Amino acid sequence: MDFKPYIRTIPDYPKKGIQFRDVTTLFGNPRAFRAAVDALVQPYAGVRIDKIAGIEARGFILGGAVAHQLSTGFVPVRKKGKLPYKTIHEEYDLEYGKDQVEIHVDAVKPGEHVVVVDDLIATGGTAFAAIKLLERAGAKVVGCLFVIDLPELGGADKIRALGKEVTTLVE
Ligand code: IMP
Repeated sequence: MDFKPYIRTIPDYPKKGIQFRDVTTLFGNPRAFRAAVDALVQPYAGVRIDKIAGIEARGFILGGAVAHQLSTGFVPVRKKGKLPYKTIHEEYDLEYGKDQVEIHVDAVKPGEHVVVVDDLIATGGTAFAAIKLLERAGAKVVGCLFVIDLPELGGADKIRALGKEVTTLVE
């Protein structure tokens, strides 16, 4: 399936000069949403995966569906200050300033096989921080799934250079 027609582009959001790729239109279409989840899980059919780690917030929507399909657990990778129990965090650079992602200290067990899920990869900073965090907690991150890759920003290649499989549906 060609997923591009289901993704809406919003010019100058959240600020001037940015073309925001909006996947809520894909999520809202029953056939496209199911087909996207089916395509993303395909490389992991019959492969040992213990947990899906979804990155807040659109990675929760996709990651929950992927986890259900693969019969795995789910780990929320959240922005700073949202998780109720003890956390570990990892900082990453934004265009201006820094941000943090967090997981609960006991979100993964040592040696668990984890796949990271988000809607889009751009520079890869967010996914890179999520991988570092999960691996500090003892998990083995085997790959990452994204609906959209912005290849000119180099994020997917950066993650592949870590030896992780990267699956994307649309460039
Ligand atoms: P990166 O860290 O530069 O790879 O940016 C990826 C993160 O920013 C992901 O969590 C995305 O959800 C979000 N993001 C950046 N640009 C867009 C966009 O155009 N549409 C949707 N999410 C975006």
